[in-house]
Amino acid sequence: MKLQDKVAIVTGGASGIGEAIAIKFAAHGAFVIVGDIQDELGQKVCAAIGPRATFVHCDVADEASVEALVNTAVARHGRLDIMMNNAGVGEPGGRDVRDLDIRAFDRVMSVNVAGVALGMKHAARHMVPRGSGVIINTASNVTGAAGIAPLAYTASKHAVVGLTRTAAVQLGRYGIRANAISPGAIPTPAFVRYFREAVPGMDENGARADLESALSVEDVANAAVFLASEDSRFVSGHELMLDGASTVTDKSFD
Ligand code: NAD
Repeated sequence: MKLQDKVAIVTGGASGIGEAIAIKFAAHGAFVIVGDIQDELGQKVCAAIGPRATFVHCDVADEASVEALVNTAVARHGRLDIMMNNAGVGEPGGRDVRDLDIRAFDRVMSVNVAGVALGMKHAARHMVPRGSGVIINTASNVTGAAGIAPLAYTASKHAVVGLTRTAAVQLGRYGIRANAISPGAIPTPAFVRYFREAVPGMDENGARADLESALSVEDVANAAVFLASEDSRFVSGHELMLDGASTVTDKSFD
């Protein structure tokens, strides 16, 4: 019970990594508010968790929607302790710079980058006056391995790390920590939709032959619990890679 009675928002919590994080946070005693654009799935996740979970429709690319999500958490529980900015999208194709589709690029940026920035902004507005809080942003191991994923997605996740470090520096004086988690490939719905073609060595189920294929959404949720809890009380501005060393391996020596 590392998060007993903490109040946590998880964006993108209706599916995949966010769903696993919402379940794990609640299992550690937290009250969880899931924000997502997939209402039915999000409500199902919250119903499975039980009375500690609430679903709120939220589009992270829309500021009013993010503000309402944070306000709902604070109105319901009196405070916000943990902001998990996890919602993210990729773009189909788009690995080759010559194929850049600027509309797809803008859409990815508005969800993955503006969505995280807005989540941090509205969370910080509640956390600063209380002098405590934790922000965790889901980036990706594409920050350590250029060329494995589509262009906009790769750029967006680098931006997430930059936002995280900036927030850590600015908000540290108010007792607020900010960190990023960068998972490797996991065959969640989004991953299968956007990246299967892009990742070399992937089979039709989205599995890889190397160590990374053993990565699960629970592994990411465990890392999120660590970053959300007092166990990581001096960790801030950090990007936690969860990729079985794939980004530090030079495949040409295999
Ligand atoms: P997923 O599709 O299973 O979950 C993403 C969730 O985000 C969905 O429930 C979706 O409805 C929600 N979402 C999308 N746009 C939204 C918006 N505008 N507002 C609110 N919610 C929105 O995918 P996932 O793999 O669990 O991805 C979660 C995060 O992990 C993403 O940021 C993704 O980039 C990142 N990530 C995934 C992998 C992987 O291999 N699966 C690896 C590294 C990083």
